[in-house]
Amino acid sequence: MKVLTVVGARPQFVKAATVSRAFAERGPQVNEIIVHTGQHFDANMSEVFFTEMQIPRPQYQLELGGLGHGAMTGRMMESIETILRDEKPDWVLVYGDTNSTMAGALAAVKLHVPVAHVEAGLRSFNRAMPEEINRVVADHVSTLLLSPTDVAVQNLAREGITGSKVVRCGDVMYDAALHYSQRAGGDVVGKLGLQAKGFILATLHRAENVDVPERLETAFRALVECSEQLMPVVLPIHPRTRKALRERGLLDAATVARLKLIEPVGYLDMVQLERDARLVLTDSGGVQKEAYFFGVPCVTLREETEWVELVECGANRLAAPRSVQAVVDAARAALDSQAAFGQGLYGDGRSAQAIVDALLRA
Ligand code: UDP
Repeated sequence: MKVLTVVGARPQFVKAATVSRAFAERGPQVNEIIVHTGQHFDANMSEVFFTEMQIPRPQYQLELGGLGHGAMTGRMMESIETILRDEKPDWVLVYGDTNSTMAGALAAVKLHVPVAHVEAGLRSFNRAMPEEINRVVADHVSTLLLSPTDVAVQNLAREGITGSKVVRCGDVMYDAALHYSQRAGGDVVGKLGLQAKGFILATLHRAENVDVPERLETAFRALVECSEQLMPVVLPIHPRTRKALRERGLLDAATVARLKLIEPVGYLDMVQLERDARLVLTDSGGVQKEAYFFGVPCVTLREETEWVELVECGANRLAAPRSVQAVVDAARAALDSQAAFGQGLYGDGRSAQAIVDALLRA
């Protein structure tokens, strides 16, 4: 079986790492060709994941980052189409909800190459999010829908996607967290002058928070406020967030000094920061789940989440950055909360194997 995997953004490297390893375990049964679209291109947003997580080197490296949505998606489709004509794979495998996901899926389906979508069925029900459009399109052109949760399977059923093409296989991010946290050996927490359970970990990068100036300012000021009122806040800052903060004049030395603002970290450091954090504040999809995997309460800085089961079990609460106080109050409440962790919402840590089995069976 020849599988052409399309990745391009940080969360896709994390997801693909476990599946690529599961492919390799099958030996000559599976031939995986990796295409990296270049959507994320900074070394600490891309290269570090391939090195640390031992992801096979992409056979095709496109350089299509830093473009607008239309140009990026269009040029990706054009390049992927050429690769598909040459490689003639049995499957195109796409992950999650980025422009690389949608471009890979659309290029494949137009050439009648079956598409398998990992993380199928996730919905925020907010079509203003570029990710929501990408995932809806990818799901509707896929032959195999690899869903992490029961909720995702139900979402697909509501859109008329049912039957054997939908496989609930658990979440590959859980596989990744289990596997790589055992290998995370550095001392990122100590080097930051922090102690386990003595800090808050924050991430911020969603368009709805970063591209809307008032939201960005409120979210950022809320993080500063949390660091003053509650405990130190570590913010590994996404390049687009850094750029937006700088443009808004918010990255003045005095403000920055009140936060532990660091460059994006590799996955091995990230899992240590997550495991040792007392609380996570984030607008990331993946980081919400990783907080849960490590039993750390989370506040999601958004109006809604795709991972609704986390809110239902009390591990996560929503606090969109509409006011600084609302975020600080939510953080304080989360610190005092007693959530029910460890309910196995995301499978048994063998989702990657389930995905390979589903592809071989289909
Ligand atoms: N991540 C990382 N270093 C960082 C920030 C995030 O390794 O500095 C990892 C994180 O642990 C998770 C993935 O990147 O596995 C999530 O990516 P991101 O938040 O960019 O995307 P989303 O999950 O929101 O799509």
